[in-house]
Amino acid sequence: MICVSLTARSNEQMLRMMELESGEADMLELRLDGIKNLDLTKLLEARTRPVIVTCRPADEGGKWKGSESARLELLGEADALGAEYIDIELDASGNLPGGKAKRIVSFHDFDKTPDDLSAIHEKLVASGADVAKIAVTARSIMDNLAVFKLLKERGAKTPTIALCMGEHGVVSRIASPLFGGYLTFAAASKEGKAKPSAPGQLTTKQLCREFRYRDLRPTTRIYGVIGKPIAHSLSPLIHNAAFNELHIDALYLPFLVDDIREFVPAYREIGARGFSVTIPHKEAALECAEEVDELAARLGAANTLYESEGKWRAANTDCSASVGALERALGTKKSGGSPLANKNIVVMGAGGAARAMVFGLVDKGAKVVVANRTYERGAKLAEEASAVAGGKCHAVKLDELGDLKFDVICNLTSIGMHPNVDESPVPAELLKPKMVVFDAVYNPLETKLIRDARESGCSVVPGLDWFIGQAAEQFRLWTGQDAPEETMRQAALARLG
Ligand code: NAP
Repeated sequence: MICVSLTARSNEQMLRMMELESGEADMLELRLDGIKNLDLTKLLEARTRPVIVTCRPADEGGKWKGSESARLELLGEADALGAEYIDIELDASGNLPGGKAKRIVSFHDFDKTPDDLSAIHEKLVASGADVAKIAVTARSIMDNLAVFKLLKERGAKTPTIALCMGEHGVVSRIASPLFGGYLTFAAASKEGKAKPSAPGQLTTKQLCREFRYRDLRPTTRIYGVIGKPIAHSLSPLIHNAAFNELHIDALYLPFLVDDIREFVPAYREIGARGFSVTIPHKEAALECAEEVDELAARLGAANTLYESEGKWRAANTDCSASVGALERALGTKKSGGSPLANKNIVVMGAGGAARAMVFGLVDKGAKVVVANRTYERGAKLAEEASAVAGGKCHAVKLDELGDLKFDVICNLTSIGMHPNVDESPVPAELLKPKMVVFDAVYNPLETKLIRDARESGCSVVPGLDWFIGQAAEQFRLWTGQDAPEETMRQAALARLG
């Protein structure tokens, strides 16, 4: 179930929010603390969903300014008026007389996830809770495991809400149905943006549309992207859209991870079946697999962890997808073989993405020139790739770009990325008809470089093509099925467009 938690400054504002949020929610939590002109009768008469009535004092994260006895009286009044649930904190629960409403007895820790969640749960149950609620703070992605374990071990006996607050705890709010959680709290939305009553809450729309909350159950398989930062990743959106399209019982989560070596084995144990890996963990990802695919080993970096024949493997779909997108743009060669063979290709940038592309290109027999802002970094990449390619890769300084003859140019820097949308790494006069121009940047969808290239009559490969391509290959490795690429693309376009 999803319960939208509502806080308001006035009774009128709370009434408006109740009407707005009733649509997709199963329940509403009415936070009475903070309402200046409270009229409880009016609020409860207006409800069209079951409600949890809550009134938090300041030391429990609330805004209640009255006395403790007045607070307990108010909760008693809500019970008498027919509220379906009353939330009372563990320390105060003995002081609130029983009534008809179901009693949620809650425990909060705004600083950490304590070690003894089972003992705390026992106290909640012993205090007469119909529903036990534990909301703690995750300092690391690993803290969610304690909450999942608690739900699994104790949630069947006593209805239990257990979650981690904060950015490391977002996954506990989404995945709770996998472990038997009673409900999750969602944020109210204000003009499309989340207005959380506690840190880390998502809106009902995000839970249902982006994370398939209504379809989640204990059999649901876990996938996700490992990175830091991760909040703005589009990967959950497109992979969950793909699972949804093919009716696959799976969930893809954003994992904010500090230490991938600790994270991967622990989440494998709770049922994770595969991961995407992004900055800064692509190198360390190799250590998390029992076997490493040849390309990933050569690159020294993986963006995918997947299971095959009982073993965890590391792969690099960044490389194959970027090269594949360029091959499609160049078209097939009559004589067979890769259309990249012997093509003159400039790669701008020498970071992780450029490295994957350069190695993939030299593998196909292309003649690659690396042009990077920091020349030495570009020269090092060219030297390493050259060792593989028998001399077919060298580096130039950025101001030598105009002297080069090339068939293909690839931007693997962040130049042109939002908000610097009027910047391009390549002067427009260097772009000629029949060239192929590849841009890694996909926000905006159409960068200045891609616009200039179209106007110059070049073929283009925009960043979204690469992004969808690398994700589609991951999807195949995890599920053995072809990814519904158009669905993934539409999901990304809906967000970026
Ligand atoms: P990275 O390791 O941080 O490397 C960034 C590269 O961009 C470096 O070569 C850096 O040059 C260069 N650079 C950054 N700002 C610059 C500027 N103002 N002027 C000139 N050069 C600049 O990042 P990465 O992982 O390789 O990613 C590079 C780009 O690819 C990013 O835009 C990323 O979003 C994109 N990407 C897209 C996809 C996709 O699926 N479409 C996948 C992966 C990455 P220095 O060496 O001089 O610092």
